[in-house]
Amino acid sequence: MKIITSVRKMQAWASKRRAAGRRIALVPTMGALHAGHEALVRAATSSADDAVVSIFVNPTQFGPGEDFDIYPRPFEKDVKLLGAWSPDAVAFAPEAGEMYPEGVQADRLSVSAGALGRRLCGAFRPGHFDGVATVVLKLFHACRPDVAVFGLKDAQQFVILRRLAQDMLLGIRVMGVPTVREADGLAFSSRNAYLSPAERKAAVAVPQAVRAAQEAIGRGEQRRAALVEAMRSILRRAADARVEYAEVVDADTLQPMEAIAPGQRVLAAVAAYFGNTRLIDSVFTQAPAADSASPRKP
Ligand code: AMP
Repeated sequence: MKIITSVRKMQAWASKRRAAGRRIALVPTMGALHAGHEALVRAATSSADDAVVSIFVNPTQFGPGEDFDIYPRPFEKDVKLLGAWSPDAVAFAPEAGEMYPEGVQADRLSVSAGALGRRLCGAFRPGHFDGVATVVLKLFHACRPDVAVFGLKDAQQFVILRRLAQDMLLGIRVMGVPTVREADGLAFSSRNAYLSPAERKAAVAVPQAVRAAQEAIGRGEQRRAALVEAMRSILRRAADARVEYAEVVDADTLQPMEAIAPGQRVLAAVAAYFGNTRLIDSVFTQAPAADSASPRKP
């Protein structure tokens, strides 16, 4: 499989393909590839003529004290996996100096994710979504895609990047792929490798919590407080889970509301630590329409 490491070569390759009338789909990743990434690569291959998978652990989206230095970087293994999933895909694997020629710490221009970037995870990871939006815009300029594919597991990231494409008039279609889960429901994540066996066992409470909220919404529960409590009560049973947030917000604005309106599209989302490992999960769901909501049990 073809590996490109320089922005200039990536742009030249993409321009040539586009000039030949081929459509490009980009899958941005930080590597340490797993079944979740595989679903994205397959969606990319089936929605365009050429797939580019970027592998770049972006320093500007990690805060001080976060796991940038220890984030897994099994590059050879990633290339093998990609080759098996999609032999014709191109891997774009730049060094930090290629993506940030001006320097990571230097006074540089960046994208602000605005208020959307300060909600949910953004309240606990200041600047994270600015870093994500900045690097994704740079990846778009490097790879010149028609379509960009992201996982709905990182729901807030998906909402922000869809808005990036819309608000900045990028003309790139942003696609979301449903979360791929292990047999017990835990979402595949490169960070699952940090979990001890006991933490891994307890972590199943995270998908259980968001699923409980989804089910309650489906039954007609509209009260935020009741939904948050349903999620927190499940997380309380998990050994040593430290909940950062459990929230129900509007699916587009990410704003919390006291009561969900009939038919409203919402996002139930959780972030919790197991030991030093921070896991997130979420589910987009729609409240039943006014005439179909079954009455709540007292
Ligand atoms: P990452 O390498 O963790 O930055 O993720 C790269 C892309 O893969 C992002 O769009 C993620 O949302 C997506 N992704 C990560 N885990 C999963 C999963 N379990 N299912 C679907 N997509 C995922």
